[in-house]
Amino acid sequence: MRLILLGPPGAGKGTQALFLSERHGIPYMASGEILREAIRQGDPIGKQAQGAMEAGSLVPDRVITDLMLQRLSQFGPEQPFVLDGFPRTEAQATELDRWLAQNRQKPVDRVIDFEISENRVVRRLAGRRICRKCGANFHLENLKPRQPGICDRCGGELQVRSDDQPETIRKRLAVYHDETEPLLRFYRAQGKLREAPGDLAIEEQYQELMKLLRKEQLL
Ligand code: AMP
Repeated sequence: MRLILLGPPGAGKGTQALFLSERHGIPYMASGEILREAIRQGDPIGKQAQGAMEAGSLVPDRVITDLMLQRLSQFGPEQPFVLDGFPRTEAQATELDRWLAQNRQKPVDRVIDFEISENRVVRRLAGRRICRKCGANFHLENLKPRQPGICDRCGGELQVRSDDQPETIRKRLAVYHDETEPLLRFYRAQGKLREAPGDLAIEEQYQELMKLLRKEQLL
C-alpha cells in the first residue's frame, strides 16, 4: 500500500504514520521530521529550511521535492510507504506523480484526509512536546512521556516545537487552507481521496483508520 496522509497540523498524521510503521511494518517518511533532523544535524538543507519553518511558511517546492524524491528513490518499485507532510502543494503532488510514473514506480494508492476542527487543532498543538535530541513526539494529554519532560526513547529533554507557538499555529493553518487544501480536490479527481476522523483519541483514530484501510482492501 502506498499511502499519503493529509489534514491540518495537529490532525494526528505523524502519530498514525508511526503506528502504521510500528504495527504493520510499513516504512513512513515525514517531511517535517526529515527537515527538523537536518536542522539538528546542521545540514545545509536544514539551514535553507529553518527560516520558513519557524515562520510557519512552507519550504520552497523544489527544495522539499528534491529531498523527498531522493529518499523515495531508495525504495523498490513496489515498496509500500506512508507519507506524512508531503506532498503539501499541488506542484509537489504533480511532481510526485510524474516522478513515480517516470521511474516505473507503483503509483500512490490512497490519500487519507484526517478531518478536525480548528479549535481542536489549537488545543492539540498546545499540548504537543518534542524531544530536543531525537525528535520523538509526545503530548501532555494524549501521548504522555513516562517521566514528565523526559523523552522515553533517549532520555532527552522535551520542549515545545518552535512552530507550535499560537501565532505560528495560526499562520500554519492559513498556509494549510491556501496551499494544501487544494490538494484534496486534486486527489478527489483521481478517485484516491478518502476521509477519516482526525479528532478522536489516538487509539480510536487508529482503529477508524484500520477499518477504512481494510474496507479499501489495502490491509
Ligand atoms: P510538519 O512537521 O509536517 O508540521 O512540518 C513542519 C514544517 O516543515 C512546515 O510548517 C513547513 O515549514 C516544513 N515542511 C514540511 N513538509 C513540507 C512540504 N511538503 N512542503 C513545504 N514545507 C514543508
